[in-house]
Amino acid sequence: MSEIQADTQDVREIRINPIVPSESVLVATARSMRPKKAEELAPRDTRKHVETCPFCRGNEHKTPPQIMAWPGAGDWDIRIVENLYPVLGDDRAQAGFNFGLQQTIDGYGRHEVIIDHHEHGIAVHEMSESHLAGLFGVYQTRMRQLFESDERLKYVLIFKNFGPAAGASIPHTHSQVIAMPVVPVNVDAEVKNSAAHYDKHHHCIFCALIDEALTFEATIYDRASGAVRRKINVGQYVVERGEKFIAIKPFASRYEWEVHIMPLAHQADFLDLRAEDLPDLARVLKRTMARLDAVIGGAQYNFFLHTVPHDGQQGAHAHSYHWHLEICPRTSIPTGFELGSGLFVNTINPEQAAERLRAIAL
Ligand SMILES: [Zn+2]
Ligand SMILES: [Zn+2]
Ligand SMILES: [Zn+2]
Repeated sequence: MSEIQADTQDVREIRINPIVPSESVLVATARSMRPKKAEELAPRDTRKHVETCPFCRGNEHKTPPQIMAWPGAGDWDIRIVENLYPVLGDDRAQAGFNFGLQQTIDGYGRHEVIIDHHEHGIAVHEMSESHLAGLFGVYQTRMRQLFESDERLKYVLIFKNFGPAAGASIPHTHSQVIAMPVVPVNVDAEVKNSAAHYDKHHHCIFCALIDEALTFEATIYDRASGAVRRKINVGQYVVERGEKFIAIKPFASRYEWEVHIMPLAHQADFLDLRAEDLPDLARVLKRTMARLDAVIGGAQYNFFLHTVPHDGQQGAHAHSYHWHLEICPRTSIPTGFELGSGLFVNTINPEQAAERLRAIAL
């Protein structure tokens, strides 16, 4: 679809994240710039059933208490259980305290585990579309129940760590739900910056990004020599397109193979996603994960769902925020430079990464 210009193959530039400008990325593709040592990916567990695994069928008595199961009757395909080692706990009669500059908020909240599939080592791209639609339906149901259960909960973070490189401590495929009394700082930054963009331009910045990814076409010439400096092609950032959803490679990708999936039509709250749209989301996710898996050779990743916080301001942010799923494959480890500077270093040109992902025949 697009043609990468020879002069864009070696890129060294700092790209500003249009949604969160404080989060910038150094795109440095020249070999000599590579500051990261590629991490040896530990092989993932691909077994279907493991007798000793508490998350495998038949071992239900070995997990913490069950919260829900899907489908409701017969053998379960998806289960939600309490987390054995919660990072946030139930109500303890503990008041937040303030002393000088030491301030705390109660570590109140819920931390649950979603057993994504009864098959132990199945990858997302190997799951059926109907199963994935069911999984996102379960995410939605549980998010709604948690918000309704306690008005102190302002955010429900749903995320998945897949593979040892992404920090998954239990090999059986699973996601996690953390309901918390504060809005995570990166979601807060997205919400505030997109609201500021809306105030100024009267449109959602995420919708604008989708429009740009779909239709933008430009050639930028060097002012002095007149040579082509950069060519931006139609669909350059699109990885996968469904009827209702799109998978985009962000212009300022923090991770080499980072991809975001979002609804094509404006929607701030994941809870507003309609049941009839779940199959298209499932299809776009499955195809995107298959592309990532093929290019990386076994994707180990974190994905997380960003949706408008239920902090009393969700009405005010309904037009400016746009929910999305961020998929961040782990192919390298952060260096001291990244940790010290807060600047992400990406050694693959995002335009070329998108092209390689699109080129996979599915
Ligand atoms: Zn298992
Ligand atoms: Zn939007
Ligand atoms: Zn986000």
